[in-house]
Amino acid sequence: MLKIRFEDLYAHLDSGDDFIVELGEQQGIGSSSLFIHKHGRNILVDRGLAFEGSGADKRTNFPVGKNLEDIHLDVIILTHVHADHAGLIVPIVLAHPEAHVVFSAKTLEELKIVLADSLSIQKKEARKASILGLPTPKAMFSQEDVQLFLLRAESDFYEIVDTDNEDVCVSWEDLPGWDFGFTFSGHTHGAFISFIKSPDNVGFVVTGDICAHDQETTRGVLKVKESFLKMMNFRECKKIILITEATNGNRDRKETQDEMDNRLKAVLDETLLLGGNALFPVFMINRGPNMVIKLVRLGYKVFVAGGVRKTLKAEIGSKLFDKWTADKTVMLIQDGVNYEHQVKSASHGEYGFRPIVTSSATLDQGAGIDFAIEMLPNPKNVLISTGHRFDGSKMQEFFAVKDNPVELGRTIVLNKTDNRFREIKKPVHIRCDGHHFDYSAHSYRKDLVAFVASLNPEIVFVKHCTNEGFHGLETALRDSFGDKCPSINRASHLCLFKL
Ligand SMILES: [Zn+2]
Repeated sequence: MLKIRFEDLYAHLDSGDDFIVELGEQQGIGSSSLFIHKHGRNILVDRGLAFEGSGADKRTNFPVGKNLEDIHLDVIILTHVHADHAGLIVPIVLAHPEAHVVFSAKTLEELKIVLADSLSIQKKEARKASILGLPTPKAMFSQEDVQLFLLRAESDFYEIVDTDNEDVCVSWEDLPGWDFGFTFSGHTHGAFISFIKSPDNVGFVVTGDICAHDQETTRGVLKVKESFLKMMNFRECKKIILITEATNGNRDRKETQDEMDNRLKAVLDETLLLGGNALFPVFMINRGPNMVIKLVRLGYKVFVAGGVRKTLKAEIGSKLFDKWTADKTVMLIQDGVNYEHQVKSASHGEYGFRPIVTSSATLDQGAGIDFAIEMLPNPKNVLISTGHRFDGSKMQEFFAVKDNPVELGRTIVLNKTDNRFREIKKPVHIRCDGHHFDYSAHSYRKDLVAFVASLNPEIVFVKHCTNEGFHGLETALRDSFGDKCPSINRASHLCLFKL
């Protein structure tokens, strides 16, 4: 392994050696962007960005190399819609008209929501800067870029695969001897695992994000189907190189899905009896729709606010969405002059017992803050966290102080912005209860080991994980394979591995 500077990449490209190098992931689970140089070709898997820290320390981490303008890319693969994998899809794809670009139909559908959202955030940031007399922040891409990208996506410029419904194999005339295959990964709608076979018969498998267990909206993928491997003649590769994520590499599942659902139902039923209400701050993609569906399945009516209103429709389909909104199973907050009134009414149970599902999961920004200000001071209410509690987030702070004796203080300060973009500090006294449910969309350790075993790779690169995640998976693989263990490496930021 060589730790390189980005500038060194050019010399390595000229050397003729095959290698892989991760261009993102400055720290652990960050922006994903894997570069593969093999048999004279350049393949890029994902171009994400990562948001790290919170409040005043909040910053965006980009993969190195801007849009890799000086490098000829033969193939760009975007594994799924999440920002840490596809946040820079528009600029990277537009900078590389020479590349074959692959993503899924569902990724495109959700990109339309996400890109519109990014543009409106950019606009807000620009207005904020002008009101505060600050320089306009540099935009990552413009509205025209987004329009051009979407127009091209609709005009067969890109290889759009429908991996939610069928496995896909692709080859291109200008890449003789190369085969590419894509199969659903279980992580979120439109997410796939990528298979790449080089002319000298080396097989690469890049998991992207994978999930072995079922979620409300997706079925888990424990192993790749033999029929798909057969279609690609993948078992005949002379060597298989697996590049896997390990978000949960150090974690085993503590509760089954049913156990968690029963615990959730008990908490909600108790809250209902007390006359309180429940707040679910969530990520708008995947987790938001998953929670709405789960709540409906468990027999509750739901109130939905923030970006989840849009992703819900995309992820459950417009037919079910229209039915649920018509029969009031799901109530959506309406933008406009009545907004504040609806926040208060929903928070105080005036629409009946209706858990509120809203962005964002960290409580650092977004619609969730308005509800939190109303709901956290009421001891009858409950706050439900369903994902990772990021270091430094208000959500993490909530769980740190909620059980404090009063004399130690149970106040957290939430940041609200007014319509002139001034930050308003809102001290909120925590009197409600809080519960965490680990509805993860990533495979746990045991399932990651089973996935590796099913492919029998010669080399395993582990990425998209914390140090604990890497060492957890490494130890589990060594325990499980013994002296037949493949070579295991951590593909972290700018570590170059010759193949
Ligand atoms: Zn993801």
